[in-house]
Amino acid sequence: MNPDAPSSTQTAFVDDAVLLRLVRGDQLAGVRRSVRAALPVNVVLSLAAALVAWNAGRGEVGLYWLILSLAVSTMRFVMSREAWVTNPLRAGASLSGPVADMAASRHVERQLTIMAISSAASGCVWALVPFLCDGYTSPQTVFYLTAVCGICAGSVVFGIAYALVPIGFITPALLAVAVCMVYAGGFDNMSIAATVLLYLAALTRATLLSERTFRESSRLKNAATELAAQLHREHAISSEANRQLAFRASHDNLTGLLNRQGFTEATTRHLVARADRPHAVLLMDLDGFKTINDSFGHQTGDRVLQDVAAWLIGELRDREAILCRWGGDEFAVLYTQQKNQLSATELAQSLIGSFALQAVHGAATLGLCIGVVLVGEADVNESISFADEALYEAKHAGRNHFRVFDAALKRQSDRRRDIERDLRRAIECGEVTLMYQPIVRADDRRIHSLEALMRWAHPRHGPIPPEEVIHAAAATGLAEMLLRHLLDEVFTALHHLEEAGPHSADVPIAVNISPREMVQLPVDDIVLGMLAQRGIAARRLQIEITEEVALDIRATQARLNALAAANIAIVVDDFGVGYSSIASLHSGYVKRVKIDRSFISGLPGQARNATLVRFIVQVSQALDIEVVAEGVESEEELDVLRSLGCNLVQGYHLARPETLETLISGPGFRSSVTRPSA
Ligand code: C2E
Ligand code: CA
Ligand code: CA
Repeated sequence: MNPDAPSSTQTAFVDDAVLLRLVRGDQLAGVRRSVRAALPVNVVLSLAAALVAWNAGRGEVGLYWLILSLAVSTMRFVMSREAWVTNPLRAGASLSGPVADMAASRHVERQLTIMAISSAASGCVWALVPFLCDGYTSPQTVFYLTAVCGICAGSVVFGIAYALVPIGFITPALLAVAVCMVYAGGFDNMSIAATVLLYLAALTRATLLSERTFRESSRLKNAATELAAQLHREHAISSEANRQLAFRASHDNLTGLLNRQGFTEATTRHLVARADRPHAVLLMDLDGFKTINDSFGHQTGDRVLQDVAAWLIGELRDREAILCRWGGDEFAVLYTQQKNQLSATELAQSLIGSFALQAVHGAATLGLCIGVVLVGEADVNESISFADEALYEAKHAGRNHFRVFDAALKRQSDRRRDIERDLRRAIECGEVTLMYQPIVRADDRRIHSLEALMRWAHPRHGPIPPEEVIHAAAATGLAEMLLRHLLDEVFTALHHLEEAGPHSADVPIAVNISPREMVQLPVDDIVLGMLAQRGIAARRLQIEITEEVALDIRATQARLNALAAANIAIVVDDFGVGYSSIASLHSGYVKRVKIDRSFISGLPGQARNATLVRFIVQVSQALDIEVVAEGVESEEELDVLRSLGCNLVQGYHLARPETLETLISGPGFRSSVTRPSA
């Protein structure tokens, strides 16, 4: 059934043609019933008539007549017994469609005609009675008249279903009486003839009326039955539609597994019913699924998800488990451990093991990570969020890992929850602030620019790493608020630098903008709008992004182009750790690259790193791009960087991040500031 099809709302009605067929069917059945009921009387009266004839000395004629009468009765009996006696339209599923309906109708009409003809044949037998009684003149006339008139009345009484049957019977029988009486002549006989004709007319009218009544009540009965059947069918259709809707609400369209809602309901019930057993939630996420979707298209992606669903169903077949597609490429299982069966962690291990064996789709190999949580007091939703925490950690550890949610993770998740809960207030009351770390010239160590680094000391959890704050802001919808707050701080800092004197008035400040912010927020509008509002020159602001963003996403590129066009220097941060560093140098808007700390630490002893740094410096210089080395922690590193031609440096060895106040009031700030060439 098409679940989208609306349930039939048309008002029930019964087609006239259908009704007519049903009525005719009922008539046929009625005729057959009446024939079977009347035949014994017919036979008994025939025997009596023959007996009376024999008694009157007409045994031979009586015998022939009796044989004829019994032959006709037998024929009628056989016809009334034909196997197909039920109404053809309700006879069975084999009858359907207009062709079958027509065939059934024709059959019924033929049968009715046959019944009428056979009835007329029987009437004709009774029309031969005059041969038994000298044309109703013998002393037995009273008996025969009574018998004929009686059987005719009986035929009318029984034959209410179809008038032609009694009419066919009574007409020859009574006409024969009338004809004989007329033939006999005389007033009395003529009177009898007239009375018999009147009787014939009255019986004919009665039988026509009876048939009409029969047809009418049959029509009403069939209409009611049909309507009831239609209502029943419509009810069945709407019940099915409701069932489909309920199924859709609780199941995933693509895989047919339970969806989130269905899973939550099913597992909540299950946990109550099986409170005596240990349960675990396993939350699974495919590694490399995005690659499949991106490189082979969504159809392939969908097929992979279906395959994985089928595989999971197979893996969990003999276990007590409730499986669902949690969303995207995530699947969740509530696993109830039975005696002598795998524990939840063993199950996770076995799933990862068998998945790795077969999950090779095209060129991309899939992996599976699982977060496991033992369901204790927590409800399903809480358990899932714990499992999610564990899954996050498992994915962090690499492909094909699982992680059990334990006390350490619980602390971590509590911490994340606290951070997310408190962030808004922290931004509003200025708890989230910035520290500034100078970027200096390698030759004379004079300040080139400052990098703004976010700081938040949580009242309970202490300093929160900036990446965590950014993550929490995105998760709680505070990303834009946070960005605006930080930009506001930077603009105030630029103002203070201006106030500090002409030597520092032109020192630009670089802000970090994460890939996530770049994708999710209209960073160009926000930044340019705020600059204009505060009346600050765009060249005093610089933006540091990680190169992954500079390359990957179109919307981001458009934003970066807009910012660069407004004269904001774009700096590619953590340069060298992404996989297409050099390509990012082509993008046009890159003003500076910051070589990642991992290339700088221990540089003096690392010939390979030195070669790489030299290469980056040379390529960048050729493209007129500045190079900064970050994370410089020793004089030796600084020396090597100088010798490699790296002009700008940043790191603890040169200056740690400080508040702007400390920085400005620090010893030598004035002398260390120089006009940047940018
Ligand atoms: P990043 O942009 O690469 O920033 C440099 C990080 O290295 C800073 O860490 C800084 O304190 C640290 N650092 C500086 N010199 C040295 C050194 O000599 N040795 C070592 N070991 N570390 C040094 P921090 O402040 O914890 O920031 C971490 C990351 O958080 C930053 O990396 C940046 O990507 C991000 N971040 C910081 N502030 C913001 C912000 O306001 N917005 C956004 N979106 N991200 C921010
Ligand atoms: Ca940075
Ligand atoms: Ca960096």
